[in-house]
Amino acid sequence: MTKLTNNVSKRERDCLILLKEESRGDFPMRLHEIASTMHIKPPTALNIIRRLKSKGFVDAQDGMVKLTNSGDSLSKSILMVHRTFESLFCQSGVPESRACKEAGEIDFLINRENAMKVLKRIDSPAACPHGKPIKV
Ligand SMILES: [Zn+2]
Repeated sequence: MTKLTNNVSKRERDCLILLKEESRGDFPMRLHEIASTMHIKPPTALNIIRRLKSKGFVDAQDGMVKLTNSGDSLSKSILMVHRTFESLFCQSGVPESRACKEAGEIDFLINRENAMKVLKRIDSPAACPHGKPIKV
């Protein structure tokens, strides 16, 4: 049996993507800012951050959180999978907002190399339906 690609939960995935997109990977985000953007309580956010830290995906110090190099490359890979499936769904007639939401439910579970095959199958568009580059 092949193991799951990324070993992160949906909430950990949401937090990684938030850090990648909001902080652009470089600037740390405050814990309470992460909590309010994710619509969760600060202690819940802290638990997610602790788990991500133990997996080596974030650095957290004095309430400031940022992606490590491995967290950065994992979020890039999740975004690539996300945008590939979003494009596939849209090409198949799924409305854009549904496509985005549902891609977000599976993107962290799918292997990047397999997503590359899907991307080829749909003629390798350069950008997702929102106009963001697929290969980040
Ligand atoms: Zn999306």
